[in-house]
Amino acid sequence: MAAKQNMNSRRDALKTLFRGAGLLSLGGAVWGSTAVTLKASELTLRPPGALDEYHFVKACIRCGTCVEACPYDTLQLATLDDHTAIGTPFFKPRLIPCYMCTDVPCVPVCPSGALDVKKIAKQNDGVKTGKPDINKAKMGVAMLDQEACLAYWGIQCDACYRACPLFGEAITLEFKRNERTGKHAFLKPVVHRDICTGCGLCEHACVTEKAAIFVLPRSVATGKVGAHYIKGWDKDDEERLRNLKEKKTEESSPEDELNDWEYLLDDE
Ligand code: SF4
Ligand code: SF4
Ligand code: SF4
Repeated sequence: MAAKQNMNSRRDALKTLFRGAGLLSLGGAVWGSTAVTLKASELTLRPPGALDEYHFVKACIRCGTCVEACPYDTLQLATLDDHTAIGTPFFKPRLIPCYMCTDVPCVPVCPSGALDVKKIAKQNDGVKTGKPDINKAKMGVAMLDQEACLAYWGIQCDACYRACPLFGEAITLEFKRNERTGKHAFLKPVVHRDICTGCGLCEHACVTEKAAIFVLPRSVATGKVGAHYIKGWDKDDEERLRNLKEKKTEESSPEDELNDWEYLLDDE
């Protein structure tokens, strides 16, 4: 509750700052800080259901309703010191992670659409329902520093594995024998990024001085493969290739996207 009071005083302080600064200087301060912090804010972890960072910062009206709805004091509103757009909600999992509330109270209350239930909608037979499913959240992805992780040294530690709410799914343990000694073994945690929600409970639980497992926003942590690469052994990609081949027969414009695929289609 003390932290919630702190949050309220932070909100009050922000309101006072905004009121006191006057319209002209306020406009300058807010716009200036938003422009300067857009880059830094790419490293910021947002609540579940957040739009991509650019659209989130534009849509969020800094009302703090999501922060108030969070029962764990996970979410904070950014101040001048937080290196992200002032007044926007974020969390630091090493301090307080997202506890993945099943009813996700922070999302449906957002009046601006910056947090969108559709992004975490529960599915029934592949069809999205209007209800939120916290397991669908993609707040970030846990990254593991193998050099700093005790389990990769061969020391018994499974703190992150045990803390993960998607137990045995988002983190699994890989057994490896120590080939040199023959009598030691490793139980190495492995993160499955397609399942990880980015809640940060693993980062919070990590026993090393600086967390060996930590959450980064997906846009920062993950690469992006160009759409023209295909996996010849993948069922879905076989389908993509077949569709493109059919499309090629119907349309033969040299400027269309098929150009990227020519080398694959012509070989057959
Ligand atoms: S899911 Fe729960 S713990 Fe996580 S940010 Fe939302 S309200 Fe807070
Ligand atoms: S409720 Fe929505 S608009 Fe209000 S601060 Fe949270 S994200 Fe921004
Ligand atoms: S791996 Fe870490 S961040 Fe991902 S779901 Fe598990 S506890 Fe949360």
